[in-house]
Amino acid sequence: MTELSNRTKFWQSQDAEHHLHPFTSHPGLRERGVRMITGAKGVYLEDSEGQKILDGMAGLWCAQIGYGNEEMVQAAAEAMRGLSYYNLFFMTSNPYATELAAKIAEKTPGDVNQVLFACSGSEAVDSAYKLVKYYWNLKGQPNRKQFIARERAYHGSTTVAASLSGLTGMHPQFDLPIEGIHHVGPTPHHYKFGGDLSEEEFCDQCVQAVEDKILEIGPENVAAFVGEPVMGAGGMMPPPEGYWPRIEALCRKYGILLWCDEVITGWGRTGEWFGSTYYGIQPDIITMAKGLSSGYQPISAVAMGGDIAREIAKSDDEMVHGFTYSGHPVACAVALKNIEIMEREGLVGTDAAKARIDYFRTQLETLADHPLVGQVRTVGLLGGIEIVKDKATKELFPDELDVGFKCREHCFGNGLVMRHVGNSMILCPPLVITHDEIDELVAKARLALDLTAKEIGVM
Ligand code: PMP
Repeated sequence: MTELSNRTKFWQSQDAEHHLHPFTSHPGLRERGVRMITGAKGVYLEDSEGQKILDGMAGLWCAQIGYGNEEMVQAAAEAMRGLSYYNLFFMTSNPYATELAAKIAEKTPGDVNQVLFACSGSEAVDSAYKLVKYYWNLKGQPNRKQFIARERAYHGSTTVAASLSGLTGMHPQFDLPIEGIHHVGPTPHHYKFGGDLSEEEFCDQCVQAVEDKILEIGPENVAAFVGEPVMGAGGMMPPPEGYWPRIEALCRKYGILLWCDEVITGWGRTGEWFGSTYYGIQPDIITMAKGLSSGYQPISAVAMGGDIAREIAKSDDEMVHGFTYSGHPVACAVALKNIEIMEREGLVGTDAAKARIDYFRTQLETLADHPLVGQVRTVGLLGGIEIVKDKATKELFPDELDVGFKCREHCFGNGLVMRHVGNSMILCPPLVITHDEIDELVAKARLALDLTAKEIGVM
């Protein structure tokens, strides 16, 4: 490591004095010193020491169009100059919020056509949870207040969103989950949780577990089933073949709302505009954020269709919910420009986009021959690399080795952001990544795997 510059040291000490970071243990960070990201362009980040880093995570799964797009800067500046802020409370709207609501209705599957804005994925999730309760009250079925979610799901970190999340480590510090939330297992991902079952048998087991839970709670008490089309923060875990249509059928059978949390899978990530389309299902509710603005502004939305949309839109009640910054004009202008760029550049559903996804998949799959790699999986431009001790038995390295973390560190040290969740290495590059950049990403991932293998004495 070269001697750090004075400005980096200055920021590190300031940060250590005053700054609490999300999902971070502070003593370790403060001892080591935070890494300052000072710029970003295209698919690359730059740190305060001038190191260029290929961002294989699109920030936190969000920078669909990449960083530093000048058109986005112009759109933000124009909106800020013309209408820096106004609210939506006083029977008012602004052109950007209105046009964005219509655009979302156009892009979401089926009849999803009512849109409520918020600022983060977690706020969208909390909002959807409240709107589901409101809906069942409007329907005269106030008993329907139980929510079914999945083990290892991630839905955000506000009180409701963290409660819906099935990553149990998120709960004890905050006395969560709140009441009325049920996490079903097994986690619907065959490679890690299928044991000796075939994918088909495992799918049966997962679907049966959901039905059993519905019957245990009593179908008349169940408000909604919520799930990420592909589980993201829990470890990039696609469901077994056929899972989603069967879950949809269960929801219809028992009159339960189907809520897809598409904060990661929305906006082109799977190769379709929405992951629910990718899996051929029609949700009643979609929560979205991240790719909606490519992270250029904090904005999220709840989009609803079917009966919940109709009931809420026609109710004479005041809907007593919303935020100061719902439909913020600058955020909406930026999101509109982001979608325009995605359409114009053909980032979703075009031959070029499909070729990019194929190339990502085939190149990533070349890593399957690495001694540490048990599985390579992709959905669209989502990738997961499973690190195992034994490829045949899928035996894992002991937790103390923290092998995923070691690999992540080797990635960062060699100019690549690849995240880890336990033993899963996760990729989610910007949708604008080129074939050459994919080559660079895969080469750096292989180098990090080699260095990890050497460090733990496997190579
Ligand atoms: N839902 C899902 C599926 C997510 O992946 C995330 C964030 N990773 C959230 C909700 C929460 O979003 P935010 O961090 O913007 O609150």
